[in-house]
Amino acid sequence: MEKPKKPSPVVNPVARPFWDAAWEDQLVLQKCTDCDRFIFYPRLFCPHCHSDNLTWERASGKGTVYSYTVVLNNPPSPFLDDVPYVVAIIRLEEGVQMLSNIVGCKPEEVRCDMPVEVIFEQRGGDFKLPMFQPMAK
Ligand SMILES: [Zn+2]
Repeated sequence: MEKPKKPSPVVNPVARPFWDAAWEDQLVLQKCTDCDRFIFYPRLFCPHCHSDNLTWERASGKGTVYSYTVVLNNPPSPFLDDVPYVVAIIRLEEGVQMLSNIVGCKPEEVRCDMPVEVIFEQRGGDFKLPMFQPMAK
């Protein structure tokens, strides 16, 4: 049986700067210039004050694990070859949260509040995904 393919991100014009930066191994976030808060995921308006005065700024790429789960089994799925893998909510220094994977350590080593930093992995022909690994000591 042919395995299903992993999905590619649907890149709309609002999110294009995020994916372009990721291709260059940089994490960028939208920031509202009226209320000075960071925003993720990319949007047309600030969810805090509804301003459309948004810019893109380079993020630190650092954060902590807010919560996570270890996927041990997932058939039928294009991700079956990846098990066990960690799906986590990362709380970035900029105050926003991002759903991603924890890589670069064993799943049983992941802990809530663990410091992590972003890395970029090419998972398709023309995009890279931000993932997080334990902070280098
Ligand atoms: Zn705002």
